[in-house]
Formats: sequence, C-alpha cells, structure tokens
Amino acid sequence: MAVSVGLIAQTIEKIAPKSWAEDWDNVGLLVGDSARRVERIILTLDATHEVVEEAKERKAQLILAHHPIMFKPLKNLRSDNLQAQIPIQLLKAEIGYYAAHTNLDQSIYSSSWTIGNSLGLERMEVLAAFVNEDRGYGVIGYLPASEPLESVVNKVKKYFETLRIQIGIEKQVNAFRVAGKPGKKIRKIAIVNGSGGSFIPKALFKGADLLITGDVDHHEALDAKEAGMAVLDIGHYTSEIPMIKTLADYLKTEKNLSDLEIMISCNMHSPWD
Ligand SMILES: [Zn+2]
Repeated sequence: MAVSVGLIAQTIEKIAPKSWAEDWDNVGLLVGDSARRVERIILTLDATHEVVEEAKERKAQLILAHHPIMFKPLKNLRSDNLQAQIPIQLLKAEIGYYAAHTNLDQSIYSSSWTIGNSLGLERMEVLAAFVNEDRGYGVIGYLPASEPLESVVNKVKKYFETLRIQIGIEKQVNAFRVAGKPGKKIRKIAIVNGSGGSFIPKALFKGADLLITGDVDHHEALDAKEAGMAVLDIGHYTSEIPMIKTLADYLKTEKNLSDLEIMISCNMHSPWD
C-alpha cells in the first residue's frame, strides 16, 4: 500500500496552510508529481547533497523539508550551476521535494511552540501576530517560577541533547551563546525559531526576560543586553530541529498516512559544524 504525495501535502497543509506563507517564500511541492504514490518519506531541515544521498540509500521517494529549494528562479538546469544541482539529483533519482517553511513557522507545530512546551512555559501566546491575531511568529510565555539564567540555559541544553539522541543525529550541538547578566532572574521567555534577531524589539515590548532564538548579530545582542533582556542564541539549525520531530510525530498519528514509512534524516547538521 502506498500514499499519494497529494494526500501527504493535504495532511501537512491542515496544520500549516500554504496561504500562511510569506509572499517571498517558496512552499509546497517543488519537485515531483502529486499523484505519485509513495511508501517512504524522509524529513529534514535542508536539502544538502548528503541528505539526498541518504534519501536514495533509505529508498525515500519524497523529501519533506523546512527550507525550500529553488528560492530564486532557476535560469538553467546545468550541473555546474550550484542552485540547480539538488533539483537535478532529485529528478535523476525520482525523489520528490516538498517544503513547509514560513507556513510551518507559524503553526503550533513550529519549533517555537515545541521548545516552549518542553520548557513547561505557561500562558503561551504568539509573540508576533502575522496571519491573524492568533497566528504568527514565535511564542512568549511564563516559567512556573523564576529561575536564574544559567539554570534555564542548562534546561535548554539538556532538551536539545535528548532530542539529538532521539533523532539519531551523531554530531553534538555546538556551543550556545548567551548575552545576559549572570544570575539574572528569568520568568517570561520569548522563543523564535530560525533567525530571530529582528524580533528583539517585539520581545522587549512584551516584557520578556529572555529571548531564545538563532542567528543574532553583534548589534542586536548588544541592544537587547543594554535594554535588560537576556538573549540565548542556540543557532539557526539547532533552533529548527524540534519541529522536524514534531512534524514527523504528527504525520505518524494521522490515520490516512498509516501505510507510510516516515523517517527523519540523520544527516542534518549546521554548516558551522
Ligand atoms: Zn530556517
């Protein structure tokens, strides 16, 4: 028994409708045929050569990724064009590619919500509304009681280490960066998966004691620290791993996909590792 790519797409779009994606984004089925019936899919953050090789070895017929390919329109399909190499490999291997990006970022299956839940945050709400009042980027919520910054950082580290082992990723998470006063009491936490430096003003406005995100630059971290908010930069890659697991778990519980083998790539890693 197999499942059509179209049905897999519909199931994902139930929790992350394509209409939620930004105009500049490139989401949905990007390579392949929605009528094709497949037995095995593999989830990943990025389409690297390693992941495509893994998909071939594990006989996956569809890659379900967070980051899109062909972000900029391709003008050719030459093998010396870096941007064309992955689409060419996928076509040769008859592997489809589906991306859920800014639409997934705004769903409750995003990493922001997953990390918030893992920290036991209470009264969680969307940090920056975008699609509507209740849907947007990031979350903000409260720890049950105040804790020193170091203890929150340790909890986050532990969570990611457990997740890495669960998924079967070999490489350990690289060092987190913390900007904040040692011992600072943390109660209200904002979380934005991906590159969240631009959400610092929003997190400050909403009274966060700490922002957990990735890709924060020098000036952004400095501004936050000066304004009295701590920042924990866990890296773009690390911050987005949780939603791959959450999405896989969701797909596994969907009855109409029960014939589908759902795998997670063991070859996801940050370009800095
Ligand atoms: Zn990202």
